[in-house]
Amino acid sequence: MIDHSALATSEIIFMREAIKQAHLAEERDEVPVGAVIVQGHKIIARAHNQVETLSDPTAHAEMIAITQATDHLSNKWLTECALYVTLEPCAMCAGALVLARIPRIYFGAQDPKAGACGSVFNIAHHPQLNHRIKIKKGPLAAQCSQLLRRFFEKKRYLINQRKVDRKIRF
Ligand SMILES: [Zn+2]
Repeated sequence: MIDHSALATSEIIFMREAIKQAHLAEERDEVPVGAVIVQGHKIIARAHNQVETLSDPTAHAEMIAITQATDHLSNKWLTECALYVTLEPCAMCAGALVLARIPRIYFGAQDPKAGACGSVFNIAHHPQLNHRIKIKKGPLAAQCSQLLRRFFEKKRYLINQRKVDRKIRF
């Protein structure tokens, strides 16, 4: 049976907003990852991955969203907020989220290669750090994973096409 509780509904609503941001990244030929930060029931930051656009390896969706949210609140801490992100945060982002004292992260797809909320590292819940973040994985996971899979399939196809073109030309 589908769970229609208010909490589950808001999780889906906010994750859909994060997915919209991931689509914006995809349109700009960026790895499609999107994030929103919510305070109460209000979205106070929306961001997508901009690593290629800004030529900046730190321009992950979460990092940009943290800066937007702290600017919005004029506060370095996000103690009453939650982050919704389409992909499990990496070590850098999880570290920044610990520093921002965010209490809760919802992520869609797991990242078995670089995830730092339980997959490869567990920075979000490390016993030696002074803040621990509650993690909920899985809202709209299939949609979030599919976006990434499609993006990388297209990339691989284009790379192979280029190889074929080169062979034909020379
Ligand atoms: Zn990251």
